[in-house]
Amino acid sequence: MQDKSPSGNTITFLGTAGARFMVASQILASGGLWLNLSGTEILLDPGPGCIVQSTKRKLRADKLSAIILSHRHLDHSADVNIMIEAMTQGGFKRHGWLFAPADCLETEPVIFSYLKNYLEGVEVLQEGKSYSVGNISFATPIRHIHPVETYGMLFTTAEHTFSCITDTRYFDGLSKYYGGNLLILNIVFMEPRTPVDHPSLPIDHLSVPDAERLIEELRPKVAILTHFGMTMWRAKPWEVAQRLSQDTGVKVIAARDGMRFDLSQLDNS
Ligand SMILES: [Zn+2]
Repeated sequence: MQDKSPSGNTITFLGTAGARFMVASQILASGGLWLNLSGTEILLDPGPGCIVQSTKRKLRADKLSAIILSHRHLDHSADVNIMIEAMTQGGFKRHGWLFAPADCLETEPVIFSYLKNYLEGVEVLQEGKSYSVGNISFATPIRHIHPVETYGMLFTTAEHTFSCITDTRYFDGLSKYYGGNLLILNIVFMEPRTPVDHPSLPIDHLSVPDAERLIEELRPKVAILTHFGMTMWRAKPWEVAQRLSQDTGVKVIAARDGMRFDLSQLDNS
């Protein structure tokens, strides 16, 4: 079979929808990030549609070395079972690792137990730990503020270090746990929300002012916004990104469904 996977160091945004209304409407696709780093392929947060978006883009699950869940919410984990089946060729080829917080595996697990035997192993993510997969390593430096156990990741490859700040409420000191020349931020809201305004809605998410603060504090070469909720979509994420670029002096990009970011862009200048 011909190898159709991308070479080099790339991050493919299978979808850019975040939170329940955008994901349910599929105005934007959902599905997570497909990392291809120094020859190691990793899938992060296979939300609803991951199997569709990845096969459509000729990304081959059997080439994955690992699947990582930042947390158990549906928009991050809905396709994890089918992606494990695809990674392991229906279980015929024991292969690949799963990394997930403990509450993805315990009561009301999001992973079917029979699939665990298809994997080389399951590793439970914990605060302050580092893990390695193939040619890359990643750390989960701090537990985020989110209704379920949630981690962001600091990835290190032979050539690059970059951060994915997944779902969280902003908190003082958040930026000091992350770094690198690329920063990927899950920005659900245009404006911060308070429990008083939205007593029954999950509000532990980053907003645009939080993004600006994090970009200012970390000053990466490039920041990419993704995981957009409805208010972000209505505000046109690409215009928000342009404004943030002007205000911070850092190149800020709004991810698009299917966008493939080549990390070699970070090496210029
Ligand atoms: Zn979440």
